[in-house]
Amino acid sequence: MDFDKILESEHTFDPENWDEMEQLAHVMITDIFAHLKGIRDKPVWTKPTKKVSTSIFGERLPQKPQSIHKIYDKIKADIFPYNKGNIHPKFWSWVQSTGTPFSVLAEMLTAGLNPDVCTGDHAPMYIESQTIDWLKKLFEFPETGSGVLVSGTSMANLTALLIARDACTHQTVREKGLYQYDSQMVLYASVETHSCITKAADIIGLGKEAVRLIKTDDNFRIDIEELNNQIHEDKNAGLVPFCVVANVGTVNTGAIDPLSEIATICKKEKLWLHIDGAFGAFAKLVPEFKELLKPIEEADSIAFDLHKWMSLPVGIGCVLVKDREAHRNAFAIQPNYLQVHERGLASGFDPIFNWSIEMTRSFSSLKVWMHLKEQGVEKIAHIVRQNIAQVLYLENLIKREPKLELITPVTMNVICFRFNPRVHLGEERLDKLNKEIVIHLQENGLAVTSHAYINGKYVIRLANVNHRSTKADFEQLVKDIVYLGNELKPTI
Ligand SMILES: *Cc1c(COP(=O)(O)O)cnc(C)c1O
Repeated sequence: MDFDKILESEHTFDPENWDEMEQLAHVMITDIFAHLKGIRDKPVWTKPTKKVSTSIFGERLPQKPQSIHKIYDKIKADIFPYNKGNIHPKFWSWVQSTGTPFSVLAEMLTAGLNPDVCTGDHAPMYIESQTIDWLKKLFEFPETGSGVLVSGTSMANLTALLIARDACTHQTVREKGLYQYDSQMVLYASVETHSCITKAADIIGLGKEAVRLIKTDDNFRIDIEELNNQIHEDKNAGLVPFCVVANVGTVNTGAIDPLSEIATICKKEKLWLHIDGAFGAFAKLVPEFKELLKPIEEADSIAFDLHKWMSLPVGIGCVLVKDREAHRNAFAIQPNYLQVHERGLASGFDPIFNWSIEMTRSFSSLKVWMHLKEQGVEKIAHIVRQNIAQVLYLENLIKREPKLELITPVTMNVICFRFNPRVHLGEERLDKLNKEIVIHLQENGLAVTSHAYINGKYVIRLANVNHRSTKADFEQLVKDIVYLGNELKPTI
């Protein structure tokens, strides 16, 4: 047997020379910190060169070990300069986190300690549990509620809708599946709702058509009358309404649905109230939004990201659920290979697979826990408030600049506007011109904004969750857009 031979010289993935790797680790830390410290002076985005794509895609699947120095040299030369850009102070596209230096270290410790945070009696489980408790406190969710960390708000929304579905069917759906029901279950959300809600309805077996997309008012908030009408129409047609998803911060415009009215409808109609607060929920920490967002506390569940307005590195969101039992009932399962003992490592906390779709989970709570301790809630709230103030400042700059047109009112940290020189260009050429401006801003490395279609118009859209941005960055953005608009107009 060849297997016997292999034991004559046993290998490991540990380095032969630990010192050499440790030295490289120091170099990496120095480099990444220098990169972050100097990020403002670099272009926000640079298209990967042809050399980069061929050097990366040209390489065959490695069969033999390569030098760690050569690997890192390649990363430094071919990845650092052609990164996405969301760590830059002038990145305001989509809604993406900036990251923080301390969480670079958190990610390193997470990988180094490498616990599976699902079961067992070990310190990382305590951190996980405390982090959820702190997040409940942050949004003033009751202590008796439950929650789980997931990879982002798409997963958080999916988790919540699954719990809502099961609560509505008294869990029998878990035994027999949905086919036992004659009636279609339906849920409600505005047309401005993130597409992951429709995807979640698909995944939990209801189908995309189960999501009743309700039209919005002039401020992109769900139309309450229409919502009421649709619920009654559906009930009369023999469908089973079970949930309303309310937005706290829509992707396009940052709109906040009328939460109190929705909560009243949900109580009256006995519907699960879920809140998609991916980024917007954090505005609850700001004095000016406290009252408006207080009804969040009435929700049955809320989904939010920690990799948006909380600035943490990508890959972490959370769902909080008021009815702990409903949450557990939706996921609890008892595999005999994972029985909890009364003592030893396999004791302690209720395994997280009873609360989550996932099983083996990384120690990503560490970066949340470290960030909350390093910065404190007051500083986190300050940054959220600062970002809102910056967008209001930008709104004023836009109003004062005759060649810029404000398209949507600012409700939070999102703004939509366009370059409009007010000479008759026609909507089609204006769309084209603004698209070119967005692309030129990116290609020249000046700034990254995104775009949206609002009432059929192509608009420049900016979402600010960037703790590195300053007032001056927005002043420069306005100058750059007006300059590019003037330069590009004759070419359109
Ligand atoms: C970003 C976002 C999502 C999706 O969250 P991911 O973290 O990307 O999965 C859902 N809803 C809203 C409002 C968002 O902004």
